[in-house]
Amino acid sequence: MRNELYIDGRWVKPMNGGTFHVINPATEEIIHAAPAASPEDVEVAVAAARRAFDKDGWSRTSGRQRAEYLRRIASGIRARLGELSRLEVLDNGKPLPEAEWDIGDAAGCFDYYADLAAKLDNDSEEEVLLSDGRFLSKAVKEPVGVAGAIIPWNYPLLMAAWKVAPALAAGCTMVLKPAELTSLTALELGAIAEEAGLPPGVLNIVTGSGSVVGQAIVEHKDVDKLAFTGSGPVGSAIMKTAARDIKRVSLELGGKSPFVVFGDADIEEAVEWIMFGIFWNQGQVCSATSRVLVEASIYDRLLARLVEATRNIKIGDGLEEGVLLGPLVSRKQHQQVSAAIEAAKATGATVACGGKRPAGFEKGYFLEPTILVDVPLESDAWREEIFGPVVCIRPFETEEEAIELANDTRFGLAAAVMSSDDLRAERVAKAFRAGIVWINCSQPTFTEAPWGGYKESGIGRELGRWGLENYLETKQITRFVSEVPWGWYLKPAAA
Ligand code: NAD
Repeated sequence: MRNELYIDGRWVKPMNGGTFHVINPATEEIIHAAPAASPEDVEVAVAAARRAFDKDGWSRTSGRQRAEYLRRIASGIRARLGELSRLEVLDNGKPLPEAEWDIGDAAGCFDYYADLAAKLDNDSEEEVLLSDGRFLSKAVKEPVGVAGAIIPWNYPLLMAAWKVAPALAAGCTMVLKPAELTSLTALELGAIAEEAGLPPGVLNIVTGSGSVVGQAIVEHKDVDKLAFTGSGPVGSAIMKTAARDIKRVSLELGGKSPFVVFGDADIEEAVEWIMFGIFWNQGQVCSATSRVLVEASIYDRLLARLVEATRNIKIGDGLEEGVLLGPLVSRKQHQQVSAAIEAAKATGATVACGGKRPAGFEKGYFLEPTILVDVPLESDAWREEIFGPVVCIRPFETEEEAIELANDTRFGLAAAVMSSDDLRAERVAKAFRAGIVWINCSQPTFTEAPWGGYKESGIGRELGRWGLENYLETKQITRFVSEVPWGWYLKPAAA
């Protein structure tokens, strides 16, 4: 576990010597003292990124050269898959197979953007047809500049990959700040980048708190673009600060995503995807399908089966064989999710299963997977993101009612529908006001497909070619090619 920041290709202690504790959420033990950067460290990191972009020429390297570095980073991640997955479990609490999945995806993300970087060499210029034949014009894609990335704790290395890979592919340099709860694998990414021979300053990693390190990045005049994933209030504050310098901003925020299950769906399959939609990663997933709407004709049967299957989920330390639900990430998160369940009960909701610390787990931030029924539509449990293994489920009668209930939210990150009627599923998918829609499943995420939210769930799209666009500017280059002089102020001499 590293105790230094990665700035300008070197490992350095924070200037003020600051550290913060890393806690294993399964045991509540302090496992490390991570480096807490100061605003002065951010200053050095941004200067290094600026230099690498403006003077050292990262922005002018060919896409193929950048692709080489990205592929080496992907290989470096794969070579350490076991070690990184274990670190992720110790830091975040997630079950080991989930961590292995995440780390594999992170490597895949670097490979994917390596391909897009290489393609940029041919794709970055596009002829623009003009209505005036005296000019020739083209649109040229260029990197935005220095990007500041601020990420959350739910997918520590994967969220870093989602930002670092497209930024570097585009030719940007970056200052990355992981969440203070989960900094370990992001620092390892620095070591992997170093081994890959990435030039100094192209990627800088500063760990520490949001209010100090994050804020310093957001406010820095030399940062051209901010890429943020996290909570709505912080996203909103970042956007406000960024407005001062008209920084480019992309935001991936929270959600309260619906899952509509029609009466013609297979109940076993529906139960499986409902559980995957809300219990994967302990429900700490921005796109978690936390509101389930089930057609009344199958509601009782589905609920009974869901409760039964949920009670069978093996809870425990993420390193233990067979565990499918680990602890929540922190004491604070455990308190918040527990308080949300108590508040739901106070509004009249009923706990169909779970709702408390599981028996036999005195230590660790463990919480039973929880199903709430009779949740009032106006209650916070139905409307606000809980960000834990808590699902609200209610019956509906008609397709129109289901769509109305699904869309009745200020969020719009994801939605899911399950039906054996393909036409209906397609119709409902189009009616959802959400950026990501799953049909007959929930949560599978692909590097190639756009990711991001409608409404208060964010701005911009990550992943796929859309993710690359986040880090590109479009420049118009227009050339005057007429042999006849322009002749506005200076009339051409008469022949
Ligand atoms: P958070 O907003 O508190 O923190 C996210 C990051 O922002 C952290 O690195 C934190 O240190 C930093 N930060 C906090 N205050 C800051 C400030 N004033 N200036 C700059 N940076 C600051 O969120 P969290 O608790 O880490 O994550 C949970 C939230 O993130 C949930 O609401 C969830 O929905 C959302 N999330 C969204 C997505 C998505 O893809 N849309 C993915 C994961 C998490």
